[in-house]
Parts: sequence; structure tokens; C-alpha cells
Amino acid sequence: MSDVLSPQKTSAAAPPRVGFVSLGCPKALTDSELILTQLSAEGYQTSKTYEGADIVIVNTCGFIDDAVRESLDTIGEALAGNGKVIVTGCLGARTGEGGENLVRKMHPSVLAVTGPHATQEVMDAVHLNLPKPHDPFIDLMPNSFGEAGIKLTPRHYAYLKISEGCNHRCTFCIIPSMRGDLVSRPIGDVLKEARALFEGGVKELLVISQDTSAYGVDVKYRTGFYEGRPIRTRMLDLVQALGEIAEPYGAWVRLHYVYPYPSVDEVIPLMAQGLALPYLDVPFQHSHPDVLRRMKRPASGEKNLERIERWREACPELVVRSTFIAGFPGETEQEFQHLLDFVQEAGIDRAGCFAYSAIDGAVANEIPGMLPIEVREERRSRFMAVAEQVSADRLRRRVGATMQVLVDSAPALGRKGGVGRTYADAPEIDGVVRLLPPLKASKTLKVGEFTRASIVSTDGHDLVAQPI
Ligand code: SF4
Repeated sequence: MSDVLSPQKTSAAAPPRVGFVSLGCPKALTDSELILTQLSAEGYQTSKTYEGADIVIVNTCGFIDDAVRESLDTIGEALAGNGKVIVTGCLGARTGEGGENLVRKMHPSVLAVTGPHATQEVMDAVHLNLPKPHDPFIDLMPNSFGEAGIKLTPRHYAYLKISEGCNHRCTFCIIPSMRGDLVSRPIGDVLKEARALFEGGVKELLVISQDTSAYGVDVKYRTGFYEGRPIRTRMLDLVQALGEIAEPYGAWVRLHYVYPYPSVDEVIPLMAQGLALPYLDVPFQHSHPDVLRRMKRPASGEKNLERIERWREACPELVVRSTFIAGFPGETEQEFQHLLDFVQEAGIDRAGCFAYSAIDGAVANEIPGMLPIEVREERRSRFMAVAEQVSADRLRRRVGATMQVLVDSAPALGRKGGVGRTYADAPEIDGVVRLLPPLKASKTLKVGEFTRASIVSTDGHDLVAQPI
């Protein structure tokens, strides 16, 4: 059975109880946090089991076939274990053949289905099926979790979603059809949430969106306000302000989903100054200009190798993470070779790769030259062999260095060691630092605190380090 989530804080009100399962990417996780915050503010309690809940909400992912399968299976489990199920998230927005809603087709007994980012619609469905408890104390109480709301991540790191949707139309992607065009959150709200998170103990803020570099495009970079100060709705101003807010808390700001537009060049000096981590998650997907054009990628005309070189000149510590697709329709062996050369020459620190898989409703399915699955898989393995070599070489350069490590796990105050991450490792997607037991008896490790550590060796994608 999938774990039914229980947030860190619950209200003191009596049941009704809601079970919640959150699947998918960090953007889906932030949707779950918004719904759980609202449920809790209204006095609903959460249940860790299907059986103990009066109703279950499943937040789904609909991006690739495996995610669709997992989501449909989870809805089936929730129906079997509880019977009253509300479905939300990306899969909720997908239609099957004949234009019928996919979730309703596969599970006709669900109570309601919504798309992603639909807190109000989900709450309406909850109210209809499980009336809101009346508690005079709670009804009069302001949201006790402040601007940040409930978080499903560990206390010391949190995702900060700055926008919803996307204006691009990459041919392999159906996200815009599920999440709509770009809508940037007001910069004042984003900064207020960031501050509340730092106040609440967050030591690492992960900025997410579908396209972080496009922040503010939809509102023409309008000027907003934070604490009475005018500030433009623009990535550069956002990063500068986040860095300044994080500084007194000694917290990290990490940027995800940044496209290699010329405007990103201006953000690199902020990294060199320490306002944001020198880490960029740039989903290049490919390197060959013809493949990028067929993919209709944002910034496909940019000279990415030169750009990365310039970024590294301005900020030598910069770590670049990226994702790629091998075996895109029509990809020739020569185009694929271009990709392998790019990963080596660009020195991509961390790379993930999918073999192209046709997603229902994606325009790329119509592109001539679909490659046999064996070729796509074989190219993916060849890609990963090269990318892992590059990654291992770059990782080895850290041996002997002293680095700041954020501790994620440290049983018994770290007496037997622990696990953490440096600025080069985002949670869940990159490697970790395996911390050895401290040499001094007085030295302890605590989750959510930083320690300095001397890197002694590498172990696959991970580092081994001695806390000092
Ligand atoms: S940039 Fe492309 S891949 Fe990313 S969400 Fe937008 S359309 Fe999809």
C-alpha cells in the first residue's frame, strides 16, 4: 500500500479525518501542501491509514506511463481500502481515447476528479462529501501555520513554487495542457512565504516552477511590493531578494528548472557572491540544434557550451545538473554523438536521462522517425555510461576539500555518523555525503544543522566525509 501522508502538524479538532496520498514531482507536492494546509485550517484531521479515514484524497502524476500506472493503482488501492476517494493532480486533467476523463474511465466510482493546482475545487468536493467540522475555536482561529502553510518535506528544507503552468510547447510534453499557461505568483507573496519558511527553521529553500527563468513574463515583470519596498517580478530580482532574506538565517537558496536564456547570465554573479547556491538545474534535454528544434525547446538557439563556459568563468564553483532525452523521434546516430560530446565537453556534474517514450497527446508522436524501443534504450545506457564517467571525474576533484554539509540524518546525534548534502547535491535527485562518526567525542551532528566536513573519498554518486 502507498503511504498515506500525515503532515508534521495537525489541528486539535475532533475528526472528520482525511487520508492523503501525494505522488509526483515537487510541484505536485506543493499542491498537496496547499490542500493539507486548507484542510487543517478548517479543522479536518489527517489519517495515516485508508481504514482510519472518512475520505481519501489522491494527488496524482500523469507525466510518463509509469507515473500514470502508479497513480491509477494508488486510486484503486484507496478505493479498496476506503471507498470514498477524491482525485486531484495532473492525471486528473488527462483524457483517454474518445476524450473521456482517464481517471473516471478507469475508476468510475471516485467521488470527484480535478486537475492540478485546484485547492478550491478539492475543498469543494471535500465539503460536499465530508462536511466541514464546526468548531467555534477553530472557526475563529487564523491559519496557525503562517504564510508558509503545512510542509510535507523534512523541517529543514522546503520547496517554494514561484509560478504555475508554462508558455512553452515542447513537443514531448503535455504539462501545458494539464497545468495551463504561465501564471507567476505575486513576488510579495513569494518572498513572504520564503521568510516564513526560514522563520520556521528551513535551512534550504528549493525554488521550483516549470520554467524559473520565465518568472514574471506573464505579468510583464510588473513591480510588486515586499515589506513596503518595490521589487520587480523577475528572476534576477527574486534571487537577489531571496538571498538577502536567507542570509541572516544562514540558509541556502537553490534554483531548479532554469533555462539557458541570456538573462540567466546576470544571476551567476549572485551565486559568486553567495546569495544563491552555485548550483543550476538546467533541463537541456539535448544538445543538437536540429533535435532541440524538433523538440521546440525554450532557448534552443542558444550556444549552450559557450554559455556554460562563461558561467563557470564567472563562478568556478558552479555545479550544473541536467536531464536529457535519448532516442527522440528522428534522432540520428550523429545527433546522438553530438549529445555525448556535449555532456563531456560541458562537464555536466549530474545528469539524468530518459529513453524517449511516447506520451498520449504529445505532438512529438507525430514526428517522423520514431526509433525502435531497443535503440532508444541502448542510447540511454550509452548516455548514462558517459555521463556517469563525467560525473565521477568531477566528484573526485572534491576529495581533500573541506565543505559545508547540511545534515539530513544523524541517529544518536551522529555518534555513528550520518548523511548530509553539500551545495552540489539537491535532495532526492543528486548524491549524498556519507558522514563518518566524528573523531572528537564532543562533536555532534544534528538534522537540519550544518557541519564542516573533510571529503575523504567518493562512493559512486556519493561522497564520504569526516566531520570536523
Ligand atoms: S518548458 Fe517544455 S517541458 Fe517544460 S513544462 Fe514547458 S512545455 Fe513542458
